[in-house]
Amino acid sequence: MLSCRDLVMYSSDVLDGQLSFRRQLAVRAHLAICWKCRRFMRQMRVVQRVVRALPDAPSADLNRLAEHLADLQCGKTRSEPRPEH
Ligand SMILES: [Zn+2]
Repeated sequence: MLSCRDLVMYSSDVLDGQLSFRRQLAVRAHLAICWKCRRFMRQMRVVQRVVRALPDAPSADLNRLAEHLADLQCGKTRSEPRPEH
């Protein structure tokens, strides 16, 4: 059985679909019993999407994005939507 530490170690391979079938089963078995790792994998998927959406973003944009994500986490909404560019 995988430990949480093992799962964190494999997480990027899980997201990239790089795991062997046997290891995928081990990861799924762990996720089935461990809500902390389920939450962790959800967050990893969000981060992966964000990173892929902004391959060459300058750090200033990443900071703004991080602030935006923090706002979303807090359930706040901006009074006016910010344009993408
Ligand atoms: Zn776990």
